[in-house]
Amino acid sequence: MFIKKIGIDLGTCNSVVFTPHKGIVLQEPSVVAVTLSENKILAVGQEAKEMTGRTPDAIRIYRPLRDGVIADYRVTEAMLRHFIKRTVTTFRFLKPELLIGVPAGITSTEKRAVIEAGMEAGAKAVYVAKEPILAAIGAGIPIDSCSGHMIVDVGGGTSEVAVISLGGIVTAHSLRVAGDKMDLAISNYIKKKYNLAIGDQTAEEIKIKIGTALPEKEEKSMEIRGRDLISGLPRNIKISSNEICEAISDRLGEIVRVIKTVLRDTPPELSADIMDKGMILAGGGALIRNMDGLIAQSTGVPCFLAEDSLLCVAKGTGVVLDNLGAYKKSIKSAGFTL
Ligand code: ADP
Ligand code: MG
Repeated sequence: MFIKKIGIDLGTCNSVVFTPHKGIVLQEPSVVAVTLSENKILAVGQEAKEMTGRTPDAIRIYRPLRDGVIADYRVTEAMLRHFIKRTVTTFRFLKPELLIGVPAGITSTEKRAVIEAGMEAGAKAVYVAKEPILAAIGAGIPIDSCSGHMIVDVGGGTSEVAVISLGGIVTAHSLRVAGDKMDLAISNYIKKKYNLAIGDQTAEEIKIKIGTALPEKEEKSMEIRGRDLISGLPRNIKISSNEICEAISDRLGEIVRVIKTVLRDTPPELSADIMDKGMILAGGGALIRNMDGLIAQSTGVPCFLAEDSLLCVAKGTGVVLDNLGAYKKSIKSAGFTL
């Protein structure tokens, strides 16, 4: 039994790789640095992300996935090849089988691009599965039961909301507002209020360190450095968590609205189940503090953050790869392409 199986959460922001024997083996930003003159890959993952905003003209930084689908085919393929190379260290001559998570609303052309990129990157076969289903499995939800489950995956580029029952998606909605748009809202807010320009990485750092979805009594604060828009010189300011809450509130409101739309479109029996059990939050963007509280408050439905929310989709690929036989039935009904 030398079949190598690899599960990949090919995210807009982060890619996570899972193998049945080792579990999560790799977690890296989906970023690639390429030299313009020779078109050579200089760095992939964390190393490439750290170069963002600091590169000379001769180097370009790519985020090859946009809104969960391939925006740059060649760079995606190179990135997949790099991940496979780092994961498969023994018996290199045996090509692995890949299971890749894709957004629920993906078109067949987009799906084909993912499969082809995987094959070109050196896979023996590529299977794709819908991310909300994988996220639900990874969060420990029994997707095959006839009871309704709701999963909200807030990633970097997109937020996906889905209701799952009997191993398939009953209603789903996707929104191109998630972590990245929160970062943008933070830098726009600081630009407007303080006349200060900050980089994308600083905006993300502020969000992760002090961001909150609900205003709080005991505020957190942090000192940040940017470039004064008038003098052009570096300047430091202190910013508080409630200011960040204000900065991102419109974006969060859009996510809440989509959750409400999905709840409205859900058959009554399943809504009752969801009301009983609550919805599950997954994805990195859901890690912003008090996100569960905001959603519960706005929808009246209990809301829980999944354990290891950043890893849910990858863990889901792991569960499916481990039990391919058992999942074959629900694989089809769950919309897997085999
Ligand atoms: P994708 O599936 O699109 O690759 P992820 O699920 O990996 O996205 O989530 C990436 C997003 O999560 C980024 O916008 C990142 O800034 C955000 N994120 C990661 N950790 C946190 C945190 N602790 N608090 C708030 N946002 C976070
Ligand atoms: Mg994701």
